[in-house]
Amino acid sequence: MTVVPTEANVSQVRILVLTTEHADLLWLGALLAGDLEMQADLTWCPDLVDCDDLVRNTSYDLIIWDCIFHSGSESSFLQYLTVSSGEKPILAISAEPHADRGVELCRLGASDYLSRSNLDRWGLRRAVRCLWYRQQLSESAHGQLGRDVATGFINRDLFFDRLQNALIRAKSASQRLALLHINLDDFRSFNESFGYRQSDLLMMRLAERLRSELRRADSLMRIGGDEFAIIIERVDDALDVAHVIRKLVTAIGEPVNVGGQSIVVSASLGVATYPEAGDSPENLLRRANRAMFEAKRDPGTSYRYYDRELHITAGHQLRLEADLRNALRGNELELYYQPRIDLATEEVRGVECLLRWNHPERGLVGPDEFIPAAEHSGLIVPIGYWVIEQACKRLQESGELGHPGLVFAVNLSFRQFHDRKMTETIFRIIFNANIDTSLLELELTESAMMHDPEYAQRCLRELNQLGISFALDDFGTGFSSLSNLQHLPISLVKIDKSFVQDLGRSADAEHIIKAIISLSHSLQISVVAEGVETEGQLEFLRQQHCDEIQGYYYARPMPWERLVEFLNNRDKAACL
Ligand code: C2E
Ligand code: CA
Ligand code: CA
Repeated sequence: MTVVPTEANVSQVRILVLTTEHADLLWLGALLAGDLEMQADLTWCPDLVDCDDLVRNTSYDLIIWDCIFHSGSESSFLQYLTVSSGEKPILAISAEPHADRGVELCRLGASDYLSRSNLDRWGLRRAVRCLWYRQQLSESAHGQLGRDVATGFINRDLFFDRLQNALIRAKSASQRLALLHINLDDFRSFNESFGYRQSDLLMMRLAERLRSELRRADSLMRIGGDEFAIIIERVDDALDVAHVIRKLVTAIGEPVNVGGQSIVVSASLGVATYPEAGDSPENLLRRANRAMFEAKRDPGTSYRYYDRELHITAGHQLRLEADLRNALRGNELELYYQPRIDLATEEVRGVECLLRWNHPERGLVGPDEFIPAAEHSGLIVPIGYWVIEQACKRLQESGELGHPGLVFAVNLSFRQFHDRKMTETIFRIIFNANIDTSLLELELTESAMMHDPEYAQRCLRELNQLGISFALDDFGTGFSSLSNLQHLPISLVKIDKSFVQDLGRSADAEHIIKAIISLSHSLQISVVAEGVETEGQLEFLRQQHCDEIQGYYYARPMPWERLVEFLNNRDKAACL
């Protein structure tokens, strides 16, 4: 017996079709047409790069995607789709017949997979119907829609699934993952004073704001009346998490406008990271929750890590960065200068500019302690420009004080090469300072150029055309062969101090230094040895015809006034 469906029990299934081919849309429409139980309503989305608006704002029940994404990785597109669609079922239709492909696509977030080559009317209808029923069932099982459009709620089961998938990804990629549990402080009294509608509006505004601080891969969910959960994926270290927290804490602290009123809220953040706080969604959630409750004890917006050690590291890092930001504004940074002596003439050829931080509480802080934090936060970019500016100013001054021709060497961090305006900014600084550019030298390590060698080489060439020269710092510790240097405008190599200090203790150090000097010289590159502390080291380097020496044997890094005295004294001694 067949049941002829009446108009009323024909289900309408709204499908968003992601394909660049209009013919495919027509083909899918034809395969689905005439189904007695299901009436498919297709919306075509031909532009996958610019599909965000359609994916987020159109009403549909499921997505069909043809697995073709021309402008990037298919897997990240699929992950994006899962998140942006609010976990709508995704039916992937791929040209590849292999079963493995289906497994891979489902692992990345697709709900089902069909191979294009044997796709027929029956198979497609069955898959669409099945996904649609499943979606309906899961929604009615929870007594509400998985996502309540009005308030941005997502139910806990969906959230659990998402966390589970994120954990699987983190495990397979051996990466960290952080789960943040954010609870608004004193939300109940807000609710009582302003009512539920306004409270929901407030949560929505906050959600939007938090969302804008996250990367696309991270997911933000409202998991309760006054709480959010955030999954931060692809985390390399605790500092990455610390940065996200800093941004979120700042975002929460900004006033929110609700119904014409400006409201300032505070929140407590609990952080649990995989693997430190466990490897199951249950554990992570419980521990983030516990950390959140601990954070509640501190007044104002505050955060707590479940893992104590991470908490300390992150706290230290965030404080350091905040202090460093103030340091740059508050003139707490200072340059010290360490002379470089020409071995043949015993004259001071130049100075290396070395950064120091006059910390208001901790006193003088060395760069090893704060440069990594400055690099991590990107603060090294403005700090680096400040250093160059300061060096140019002193270069100018040294001429006026009767010491013309001194070379000023400034360290460049790898991170400064990420700034696409680097050449332009350096050019502006030296132009304003009106210096003889042949006296400015930039020191960089091999790793500085690794990130994007082509771009780094272009920067070096452009700056070199302005007259600036380059030194390769810490030479011998990296992987480069000297022959690589031939293609770069490098005129100086600095032998790392670890080799100099091993002289007399290891025969290897002697051999390495000899090799570096003779190879550099054969390429018309000068050599500076760093970290020279003893007469013995000096003599060895002299015998090997090393060009210049830098080290405590002659002078330690010193403030500007002391350097001027040092130069004056040497001049006087030379006249005697
Ligand atoms: P670096 O570029 O290798 O600088 C040389 C370091 O060796 C300096 O340490 C210097 O004080 C130290 N040194 C010099 N002679 C001797 C010696 O005879 N014995 C010993 N034991 N050490 C000696 P400092 O000033 O602590 O700087 C450490 C590192 O911080 C620098 O290593 C450089 O990588 C970085 N740095 C310093 N200033 C800046 C800056 O303005 N920008 C950037 N990006 N990095 C900087
Ligand atoms: Ca250096
Ligand atoms: Ca060095």
